[in-house]
Amino acid sequence: MNPVPFRHEFPIFQRHPDLVYLDSAATTQKPETVIEAERYFYEHLNANVHRGAYRLADEATTAYEAVREKMRVLLNVRDASEIIFTSGTTAGINLVAHCFAAVQISEGDAVVVSAMEHHANLIPWQQVCLRNKAKLLVVPVSPDGVLDMAEYENLLANEKVQVKMVAISHVSNALGTINPIESIVRLAQRHGAAVLVDAAQSIASHTLDVQALDLDFLVFSGHKMFGPTGTGVLYGKEKWLDAMPPWQFGGSMIRDVTFERTLFAPPPQKFEAGTPNLAGVAGLGAAVDWIQKTGRETIARHMRSLLEYATHRLNTVPGLRIIGQAPEKSGIISFLLDGIHPHDLSTFLDQSQICIRAGHHCAQPLMDLLEIPGTVRASFSIYNSEAEIDRLVEALHTAREFFGDI
Ligand SMILES: *Cc1c(COP(=O)(O)O)cnc(C)c1O
Repeated sequence: MNPVPFRHEFPIFQRHPDLVYLDSAATTQKPETVIEAERYFYEHLNANVHRGAYRLADEATTAYEAVREKMRVLLNVRDASEIIFTSGTTAGINLVAHCFAAVQISEGDAVVVSAMEHHANLIPWQQVCLRNKAKLLVVPVSPDGVLDMAEYENLLANEKVQVKMVAISHVSNALGTINPIESIVRLAQRHGAAVLVDAAQSIASHTLDVQALDLDFLVFSGHKMFGPTGTGVLYGKEKWLDAMPPWQFGGSMIRDVTFERTLFAPPPQKFEAGTPNLAGVAGLGAAVDWIQKTGRETIARHMRSLLEYATHRLNTVPGLRIIGQAPEKSGIISFLLDGIHPHDLSTFLDQSQICIRAGHHCAQPLMDLLEIPGTVRASFSIYNSEAEIDRLVEALHTAREFFGDI
């Protein structure tokens, strides 16, 4: 019996059989079908989309648009024109921050983010607020890593400013906290604010029904959902995509151009200037198929069971402190080992082929808030096993001996 039923579908583990890859929050490994889909595109379909007058270009366009439709189904989006392909979460948030702010955010307005946001969902809003003289309001996080929902309501109800946007992550990449996205969205809507959900950490394992939640924007990266790097999705509600000006200008995004003016194409083309990552999008389509075939509930259940096991096992290591103890967590554990700097620890673990990340995890203000320099972070996905967690724990004991009796 294979203890990890999906591991054999990921070729990297055949090349590196002893690899303990515990860094899926940074990027997931890719199943064979995703790698094959990119290859298939180049070998069978390669031509530029939307412009060709010949059959191969038509086929490439059909394949590209078919992935948009797969995304529509995955997210339960009303119309595929509300799906925009991007290069990733960062690109999607920058696009929304720039274009939404151009029509919605001015002096006296505010944007709400949480203290646990990834820099990608913090800096674009911070910069937009500085430029447009708006306020950036931050929802505090408890030492356990839980959002302060009472303070969130207070911020929304603040009479001195009008909150126009709430930009929030579904799952924190630094602590693993799963935020109560339904309540967050409902409260924002009650106060007339739009909501952007950063689903980079949840898209592969959690169902996000765009219509049921009545979301305004949703962003994520392909490479954290078993898909290729350089791909991503921005969902935007039609009314916003119609109202927002384009972000980048160039080929493929126009209806008519003269030297004096340009009429833009409707969404999604309006926001997809230039040649897209065609082969990447083909791979992204295969990643959606892989997730649908496997089931997000299966993936989530596996991550949850590894989280429970790892939490239990790590708590047996003397001097180990888990950072982020929210009651609802995804497959991410941040921790510190007394007296050992996170970077030294991850370098030490690498000698046993254990890949875990150390540092601030692109959430420096959060680390400042928690008064720690950073953490070591182990993150799990469908291909990980309890045996790998055992190897991590064993190596942590060895590290304690190596770095001195502590
Ligand atoms: C990884 C991550 C991002 C940034 O994604 P990129 O793929 O680097 O653009 C943003 N937010 C969260 C929560 C993430 O985990």
